[in-house]
Amino acid sequence: MKVGVPKEIKTHEYRVGLTPGAVREYVAAGHSVLIETTAGAGIGATDDQYRKAGATILGSAHDVFASSEMIIKVKEPQPSEWTQLRENQILFTYLHLAPDPEQAKGLIKSGCTAIAYETVTGPAGGLPLLAPMSEVAGRLAIEAAGAALRRYAGGRGLLIGGVPGVQPARIVVIGGGVVGAHAARMAAGLGAEVTILDRSIPRLRELDELFEGRVRTRFSTIEAVEEEVFAADVVIGAVLVPGASAPKLVSRGMLSSMRKGSVIVDVAIDQGGCFETSRPTTHADPTFEVDGVIHYCVANMPGAVPLTSSQALNNATLPFGLALANKGFAAVLENPHLRAGLNVYRGRLTYKAVAESLGLPF
Ligand code: NAD
Repeated sequence: MKVGVPKEIKTHEYRVGLTPGAVREYVAAGHSVLIETTAGAGIGATDDQYRKAGATILGSAHDVFASSEMIIKVKEPQPSEWTQLRENQILFTYLHLAPDPEQAKGLIKSGCTAIAYETVTGPAGGLPLLAPMSEVAGRLAIEAAGAALRRYAGGRGLLIGGVPGVQPARIVVIGGGVVGAHAARMAAGLGAEVTILDRSIPRLRELDELFEGRVRTRFSTIEAVEEEVFAADVVIGAVLVPGASAPKLVSRGMLSSMRKGSVIVDVAIDQGGCFETSRPTTHADPTFEVDGVIHYCVANMPGAVPLTSSQALNNATLPFGLALANKGFAAVLENPHLRAGLNVYRGRLTYKAVAESLGLPF
């Protein structure tokens, strides 16, 4: 199959659909890979590296769209991209169609087959093409907290791990899923005192086993959240209620009882955030302060580390992408996990929740 990778054009998107390492896998499986020139610049991958991996470099996105049977991207297609898609062409990328009727209509009109990373499921459950970005965001949350805790950044002037003889930071993680577990791992690794709150007892049991006593776990009630947040130097918001906005677990009123110079990292901001005072920020201006508490609420955290993020994403997408390249649409029919990723097929929405939230036929 001819597999095409255009350069990402959404503002501040530096990731790339296929890394040179992934290209080698497609080429080894007998496929042709067409890469738009400089598509890998954001991760420092040159056209020459792609050529060495076996790709053909094309001069424009137009050439890539026109010549490829499958397009692999990172971000949802922009208007200038969806108008270039056509019937029988497969699009494999993040789509996030539910809040985006314009894109949905564009994909429907194109007649293409669109498979969304975010709804592909895994044999062990979960969303395997979303998980790597949660891993990145969870780990990055502690780096962000460390930076915000510094005095010149408005923080308490506290080193996360302390030093021998000096207390480390108290870090509270609300939500012990993928983001929460990775944040806790980084925080514990730095020597912080870490508590994870979750509503799921089975999950708390897993975390307890995983961390072997290096992290405290606590069932998440209003009282527990209050007690932990008031005593914290850093609070990481990492809750997710599938298909719903994040619950507001920390109110404006609670904020005034938090320590001055403490830090909130609201990773769940892409679902509205779990702190009442959160609002989305960008990497260019990531923090703001309310009642003396520093808020970090960047909605696309993995974008700060496109090299790590592209590699992690490619590791996860590779088996699915190769199945699509090897078998075409038959792979979707054979594999229920890829089938779960199918959002648009031949001019119709094929994902019920997306169709319902857009009020379009399913
Ligand atoms: P996940 O499903 O793996 O984990 C969510 C956890 O929250 C679950 O363990 C669940 O039991 C728990 N939870 C639900 N309600 C709770 C409550 N009231 N109190 C305590 N825990 C509760 O999800 P995830 O992959 O870890 O993602 C977490 C959030 O981070 C999501 O909103 C996701 O969209 C977001 N995210 C943001 C970025 C970013 O760049 N900002 C990147 C990746 C993920």
